[in-house]
Amino acid sequence: PELWSNDFNDFICKCLIKDFELRPNVFELLQHVFIKQIVGREKTLQKQLMELIDLNQQMGVIEKTRHERIHTKKGSYMKSQSQTCDDVEDLATLEVLDENTITEQLQRRYATEQIYTYVGDILIAVNPFQKTELYTPEHSKIYVGAKRTSNPPHIYAVADIAYQSMVSHNTDQCIVISGESGAGKTESAHLLVQQLTVLGKANNQTLQEKILLVNSLVEAFGNACTVINDNSSRFGKYLEMKFTCGGTVVGAQISDYLLEKSRVIHRAVGERNFHIFYYIYAGLAERKKLGHYKLSDSKTPKYLHNENVKLVPDIVGNAFYKEQFETVEQCFKVIGFTLELGSVYSTLAGILNAGDVEFTSVASEHQTDKSNISNMAVLESAASLLCIRADELQEALTSHCVVTRGETIVRSNTVEKAIEVRDAMSKALYGRLFSWIVNRINSLLKLDSLSEDKGLNIGILDIFGFENFKRNSFEQLCINIANEQIQFYFNQHIFAWEQDEYLNEDVDARVIEYEDNRPLLDLFLQKPMGMLALLDEESRFPQATDQTLVEKFEDNLKSKNFWRPKRVDLGFGIHHYAGKVIYNASGFLAKNRDALPADIVLLLRSSENELIRKLVTHPLTKTGLLFTLYKYLTPLVGDATHHPRETTNMKTQTVASYFRYSLMDLLSKMVAGQPHFVRCIKPNNDRQAHKFDREKVLIQLRYTGILETAKIRRQGYSHRILFNNFIERYSILAFRANEEPPMNPETCAVILEKVKLENWVLGKTKVFLKYYHAEQLNLMVRQT
Ligand code: ATP
Ligand code: MG
Repeated sequence: PELWSNDFNDFICKCLIKDFELRPNVFELLQHVFIKQIVGREKTLQKQLMELIDLNQQMGVIEKTRHERIHTKKGSYMKSQSQTCDDVEDLATLEVLDENTITEQLQRRYATEQIYTYVGDILIAVNPFQKTELYTPEHSKIYVGAKRTSNPPHIYAVADIAYQSMVSHNTDQCIVISGESGAGKTESAHLLVQQLTVLGKANNQTLQEKILLVNSLVEAFGNACTVINDNSSRFGKYLEMKFTCGGTVVGAQISDYLLEKSRVIHRAVGERNFHIFYYIYAGLAERKKLGHYKLSDSKTPKYLHNENVKLVPDIVGNAFYKEQFETVEQCFKVIGFTLELGSVYSTLAGILNAGDVEFTSVASEHQTDKSNISNMAVLESAASLLCIRADELQEALTSHCVVTRGETIVRSNTVEKAIEVRDAMSKALYGRLFSWIVNRINSLLKLDSLSEDKGLNIGILDIFGFENFKRNSFEQLCINIANEQIQFYFNQHIFAWEQDEYLNEDVDARVIEYEDNRPLLDLFLQKPMGMLALLDEESRFPQATDQTLVEKFEDNLKSKNFWRPKRVDLGFGIHHYAGKVIYNASGFLAKNRDALPADIVLLLRSSENELIRKLVTHPLTKTGLLFTLYKYLTPLVGDATHHPRETTNMKTQTVASYFRYSLMDLLSKMVAGQPHFVRCIKPNNDRQAHKFDREKVLIQLRYTGILETAKIRRQGYSHRILFNNFIERYSILAFRANEEPPMNPETCAVILEKVKLENWVLGKTKVFLKYYHAEQLNLMVRQT
């Protein structure tokens, strides 16, 4: 009887914890006891119990011997901790709270395949680097509408909390997933989407199917094999699942951030191009269509060169790539892409062919050198795939027009310049194709039953983690600034707002010290003297060089977080929240200008392929975010208020300015919703299962602020409820139904004292509760 609980799961868990020798006959016995106590609900409970027995038998929970932990053969399933000091599911409940204890706990749990752990309401996910049995339909089922403490920590529980919170409070939610490359962000995002479609019970099977396919499709185009992760996301993704106010899922929208386009033309040693290139190569070969798309079955395109793979024979014979090609094509079709597929393949093959166009230097009388195409046949193939005229492509690559005093003069390009133009075209085509696919998915998944501004949504942010390589360029700078911004949001949420509230309510809470990274954001984003603004200013001067740029940084950036290392040409250092990074400014200006020569734009606009024309005609294809971008330009870092302004001139849009705005846009979306955080941790650098590198984990815990989070969650009050709301909700615990207690703080105190809760505080307008109080109160209400 002392185990008795109205909450069925809770009851069974307690039984399991109490008696390690549960066998089917014990369950039967329990069943009788259980049912006897609940008159009128026998049928449902009996059914539930039988299901649970079945499930436990399948999972092996019931076949345990004494001393064995309640932990299934296939992974943790029921509440598996023994609730003793040696295994803790919520680190915020630890008495001793230092780096070592936290790491130790994570390691202990990891060793028994318990990869998830809470720190208050934040979920830590340690990458298992192997398939686990944590994601069966049974798991999905037990995390639906369950009390958080009834089940072990799980990513499905985060989906459930966000969903329940959206439905019951009628507010948008936002799940921020962070962690370094290979930590498991994208996998976590998949699992969240999967569980949210279960929770949102899409009426329409196809919609559910489509939403699940979106990820595979976008990843084929936006992910690549890197030295760190075979499926590394090379873009940031914010996926919004749209729901009706009643909680039925009705659609999805994606926003993409900063695709690493330069990968199309250049990759670091040991890395590959975007997956899709290999998939189409293998898939088209299988269909005997390589010839049709002018792809060779013996010679490897330059853009796919890689020192580890003999490529073409390897790619063509790769069964995995073939399979992926079929999957991608299937995704395209189910989502609703139809006629455009051939054009997508032509564009990709056109890019590969363009990459093989070669130039030779020719001495001329007037100029030192100019360039000639040395392999006309390849140029013709590229032109025919892009449906443009070969002679015009040749001209656009090898020469450019200059307008001086109203006169147009044609100038030849040097070989170097011609290569630059060729690569700029390839990058632009790929980048725009990617954005077009994202936009098209968005319009195909647009909700018919719901207009844009009605209904609710849950956003899931999966954005590249902090990067620090041997050589760090413009891309790393952008990625690290994005992480700086997310960290700022996290800090804001967890620390600053928390403390502000205490102050406003006169609640005495110890001031928690934390690393405020605001000075860093100011260093990057402030106008007119922030790094991105300086970069933009310098990009406007035709005579500027990367050298003048770093000098400008040095002259204007007055911050202890910025320095110029000695003996590194074009180098500058930034002390990020996550560590020191040395950047090399070589190529910064060109990458920021991201200029596509006017001649190339004009030529592509004349393409007979409608898709290619679309890619270069609508500036909005550059990104799906631009709509929002032009509506809301947020001038202040971290300031959630929107300031509508006139549209900006597209021509002057640099990568830095666009990037700055899209960060603001992202932030404003995040701030508008209630946040949930998933912190992914990479347990080792070797992608190995069962290997927990403490030092590595510790560093991640430190820079993701988990340590401080644990402290503040424990010391702080995560739930604050207005007196009136509190009384309406919980007066039943202390007063009779016909009583009408006064709406004042004293009544709140009476209720809290009656139910014997401790450590709560009354502020000026609200009751401040620890996060576990809220669960206890809700349970008591249900039992009443
Ligand atoms: P990047 O920043 O490079 O995109 P990421 O954080 O998105 O990295 P993922 O691609 O999600 O990392 O994960 C890397 C690999 O780790 C996966 O391909 C998978 O093999 C493994 N992995 C991650 N999470 C899990 C999980 N929950 N279960 C099993 N394997 C996992
Ligand atoms: Mg990823």
